[in-house]
Amino acid sequence: MGFSSFNFDPRITAGIRALGYSKPTPIQLQSMAPILQGRDVMGLAQTGTGKTAAFALPILQRLLSGPRGATRALILAPTRELADQIEQAFRELGRQTGQRSMTVFGGVGAGPQLSGLRSGVEIVVACPGRLLDHLQHGACNFSRLEVLVIDEADRMFDMGFLPDIRRILKHLPARRQTLLFSATMPDDIRKLAHEILRQPVTVQVDHTVPLATVSHALYPVVEHLKSALLAKLLEQTGGSTVLIFTRTKHRAKRLAERLREDGQDVTSLQGNLSQNRRKAALEGFREGKFNILVATDIASRGIDISQITHVINYDMPDTTDAYTHRIGRTGRAAKTGDAFTFVTSEDEPMVRDIERVLRSRLERRKVEGFDYSARQTATPARAAGHAHHHGSPTPHRSGPAALGQKPAGSFPGRSGRFKFRARRRR
Ligand code: AMP
Repeated sequence: MGFSSFNFDPRITAGIRALGYSKPTPIQLQSMAPILQGRDVMGLAQTGTGKTAAFALPILQRLLSGPRGATRALILAPTRELADQIEQAFRELGRQTGQRSMTVFGGVGAGPQLSGLRSGVEIVVACPGRLLDHLQHGACNFSRLEVLVIDEADRMFDMGFLPDIRRILKHLPARRQTLLFSATMPDDIRKLAHEILRQPVTVQVDHTVPLATVSHALYPVVEHLKSALLAKLLEQTGGSTVLIFTRTKHRAKRLAERLREDGQDVTSLQGNLSQNRRKAALEGFREGKFNILVATDIASRGIDISQITHVINYDMPDTTDAYTHRIGRTGRAAKTGDAFTFVTSEDEPMVRDIERVLRSRLERRKVEGFDYSARQTATPARAAGHAHHHGSPTPHRSGPAALGQKPAGSFPGRSGRFKFRARRRR
């Protein structure tokens, strides 16, 4: 079944064509008809399935008739990056519709947001905290709101946004269409859905199984050899677009610095950066200025960069959902991708959980020519000097962290230490 069966207005069909979508994805096939009928929908789907267009297209169609100059659709999203991406999808799909859209989130000046909200931009994509600020100061009026979308509800719950969402709901008309999307359905989200959705249609696509276009491999390694193993792997993946995840902000920053010293075109994304620097990092990566992005889980959701060929979990994620989200950054839009995960002996329980979710055993790989028996080269004093940076959020992780133990730029190699060969990719 193609897009034509949904009878979208030609202005919307033009947007679909402009983005090169030839046929609807499964979540779109299941959810667009009920959304077009005005039904409430509960969608169990993760990013990468095409869920943004699944709600954006019917909303754009709805907004074609009816008043202008009033906010009629509100989309709540957990992170600024995701909000940006959703707003961009509305803008691109709705280019010919004349509908206006904007984002509202913290970390940037409130002025332009206030004037946009006051002018009655039709589509608002917001993170809960800043939006609530504006609502509580009477800066916007949602009395004519028709559609509310709560996207990545489980993530919002994880981030502690549920109370804010409940407060926001009090400012919205009770008579509205509500769509709730979530990759997983923890009890609190189920409860919220039960409270706010009216006779919802439930749609579901492969919500816990990572994309089939990604091949997964584990790289067993001891903690102190992680950076050397990474160096070796990056040599092999030469020139690819690689997203590397670390457990903490500090580790992301340090690893990016180290890779930069070794001549890699690398940037990093973590929550300590200002919004402008986060945006610059992401755009630089998207545009190919950097071929490596080192990030914390802040980048594990919502980021849609179709050319990412490899996701490397330098540190094991804390949950199977986090694994799913991280590796969902590659293999997007039907391209294939590789997900490599470094595992230490302490990570074995998580490996078993991931294998259970994937319903298959993951391949264990060894890198040929890599000295897995190389000794740790750091002096105890140096390692101790950095210890305070590596407070692990998970109790099962202990032992020294690889980063910070060795002088920048040098890695333990086959014969003791070697200077990581400086290379320029582009
Ligand atoms: P999402 O799950 O909304 O983050 O979408 C993932 C990616 O799939 C985005 O790059 C979309 O532009 C793309 N996409 C969405 N719908 C389609 C479609 N019907 N055909 C091809 N690509 C799509």
